[in-house]
Amino acid sequence: MLRDSQIDLCGQVDFTRTQPLLGRDEAFSFACNGCGNCCRGREDIVLSGFDLWRIAARLRLPPRIVAHGYCRESIGQVSRLPVLRLAPLKSQHNNCPFLTENHCAIHDAEPLVCALYPLAQEISGEGAVSYFLQPTSCGGPMFSAKVEDYLARYDVPAREAVDVCWAQTCMTLEDTVEELNTILSPVLARRLEAKLWQALYYDYEFAQPFLPQLERNLRWLEGECAKLRGYQEQLSTKCIEKNDR
Ligand code: SF4
Ligand code: SF4
Repeated sequence: MLRDSQIDLCGQVDFTRTQPLLGRDEAFSFACNGCGNCCRGREDIVLSGFDLWRIAARLRLPPRIVAHGYCRESIGQVSRLPVLRLAPLKSQHNNCPFLTENHCAIHDAEPLVCALYPLAQEISGEGAVSYFLQPTSCGGPMFSAKVEDYLARYDVPAREAVDVCWAQTCMTLEDTVEELNTILSPVLARRLEAKLWQALYYDYEFAQPFLPQLERNLRWLEGECAKLRGYQEQLSTKCIEKNDR
């Protein structure tokens, strides 16, 4: 079962898995004529903080600059967590900003969603990773592959531990943010959003490993959430005192 944060982070708010999970030693088939349309008009390519860091390292640019140049920010309707999507270029047939002459310009750092396609990933709260075949309407020659061989093509197994950590982080934060949003004023709730962007996406050096930076940022975020809670309590106390006068 996907948690709300994963549904948002999959970029498909109404996405429900209908396909069976595949074992890693199972084979699957799909049709592909190489048209490149899966890199056009896509509003659903959601990047994790790790995806953004990998692209930033590939381009040797700060993550915030990459996000502002190539992505669109939003807040998940369900999870209330930051959601970062690749922004198709309206001026160029709605192509992905990294599509150049039918090739991915960041092939060795492409987002997980792209590396997996037509497979998709599901991560349980306990950190179990499963894969399934997405329904596609592509035509053309049929390709068959074993799941484990397909995943190995783009080094997906090598990044799985970080992807699990990211998914579990989002699941935990979703509960924290839901609880905070019930008590914070709109101004403080907006401050919380800014801090979430900072901790999950932007406060990273591309030349340093991702996971230790995520862990450091989560420690910082915990302190910031406690401060916001404290500010809110002070505001509420002042308000009560004012009303009592
Ligand atoms: S997967 Fe489908 S959309 Fe993508 S290149 Fe193949 S046929 Fe085209
Ligand atoms: S990042 Fe690369 S693979 Fe993914 S949609 Fe863009 S061009 Fe295609």
